[in-house]
Amino acid sequence: MNTLIKLFFVMIIFPNIMIAQKTKKNYEYHIDLLHLSNDEVRVSFSPPKNNLKQGKFIIPKLVPGFYQAMNFGQYVSDFTATDKNGKKILTERLDKNSWMVHDLKNVKKISYQVADGWDSLEKNNQEAKSPGTMFKKDSVFVINYNSLVGYFEEMKGNPYQIKVTKNKGFYASSALNYQQKNKNTDIVWAKDYRQLVDSPVLYCVPDTTWIKIGHTEVLVSFYNNKERHYSKIIAREIENILKNQQAYLGGTLPVNKYAFLIYYESSNENGYLGDGLEHSHSTLCLYRAGSMKFLPHALNRVASHEFFHIVTPLNIHSGEIQHYDFLNPVMSKHLWLYEGMTEYATIHMPIKQKMISLEDFEKSLEEKIQGMKEFDNKLSFTEMSKNSMERQDQYMNFYQKGALLGACLDIRLRELSHGKMGTQDLMQMLMKKYGEGKYFNDDHLFDEITKMTYPEIRTFFRDFVEGTQPIPLKEYLEKAGFNYDEATGKVTSFPNPDSKQIALRKAWINQ
Ligand SMILES: [Zn+2]
Repeated sequence: MNTLIKLFFVMIIFPNIMIAQKTKKNYEYHIDLLHLSNDEVRVSFSPPKNNLKQGKFIIPKLVPGFYQAMNFGQYVSDFTATDKNGKKILTERLDKNSWMVHDLKNVKKISYQVADGWDSLEKNNQEAKSPGTMFKKDSVFVINYNSLVGYFEEMKGNPYQIKVTKNKGFYASSALNYQQKNKNTDIVWAKDYRQLVDSPVLYCVPDTTWIKIGHTEVLVSFYNNKERHYSKIIAREIENILKNQQAYLGGTLPVNKYAFLIYYESSNENGYLGDGLEHSHSTLCLYRAGSMKFLPHALNRVASHEFFHIVTPLNIHSGEIQHYDFLNPVMSKHLWLYEGMTEYATIHMPIKQKMISLEDFEKSLEEKIQGMKEFDNKLSFTEMSKNSMERQDQYMNFYQKGALLGACLDIRLRELSHGKMGTQDLMQMLMKKYGEGKYFNDDHLFDEITKMTYPEIRTFFRDFVEGTQPIPLKEYLEKAGFNYDEATGKVTSFPNPDSKQIALRKAWINQ
């Protein structure tokens, strides 16, 4: 009997203790998307229980995937802390992105206003919008939590509970699971700040389609102010890209759930503008175009590139990225890998999977060659990567020369292995060795790759990635039966390649 009563007690009390402990550890946020004033959102939170005399509150200076200071703190104003009686507690703004909160242990609530970082994707402002936030009170919210939510340096790893008050017709599209409490309220949890920032959300009247690729559930969410039933068409396009990516990546996509959040702005201009940022389980793509007919092409470039980031840096990255410091991040040497190899896969996959013609592939190589010419190609890529924040003028070359370096590395690997190993296999091996949650030492990566492949690959990295030798594009393309005319920038296939060239071309691009 005694035991029974005790057991009864334990069962009753235990969940309550759990809840109490949970609440104590959390940041409890409230974000009000319903009552905006001057296009600003009211944000408030209670900090986790603590015994701190003071704490440094941080809104990120920049976020993973971007290499330029964006100072998200600049959009925050009217920062106030109060105790349980509503009495103000002293706070001081230290710089653009941080605040000192005194007597933190007695702080019950902190609140502030947040302005959005952009209103339209118009070309006159070149700054990337995909890590930022945009509010249109009655129609759409594009939210990256790094603009709305912060953390205390002293309490970095704590979980988050976010309550969102929103328009009753709005739906939250995100990789995180939003629970609807009532028509105007959603609740979402994140295990820590990193996960929250890694999960943007698109709030609007839903235009969503789910597709399944292998074992991967994919949400496609679309917003355009005029076209409200377009996600199905986009989803068909994405399905085709992902199926080919799946085959390219060896048969399985390395993720169970994924969300494409696509914001599309109509314009009167010709051409299109695409801006995307990759996340572990989602990607946010922002497009502006004169006509919907650009979308398939835009998806093939931007959405495909962002999804390929699932390989690197999301599954293959250094300690600098694993232990990301949102205020003073230390840069890794390996942007040639994170952006260069990702962009290479984006242009290599369509030819390897027979989605495009050989001429189209030659054209995409020519575009990269042309693009590379706008930059200083005598700089070491590892040094440029380390200093990417200071060398923003050269940063875009990781997508140009970086992709061509990927092509050269691929050709070299296939040559050394007699067609058995290319960069697709190398990335698979690296994903197996590192994968989600594990990271490599920035200084050891080249040696690790050499151990997995051939001693000659160390020389390749020393000469062309660490060193400043021009990339051996002409020599390498010739190995696969292509002529690269350095004067005109034209790439053409040999009319009569020899058997070695034919074999290498087949292994490289399946042609
Ligand atoms: Zn990228």
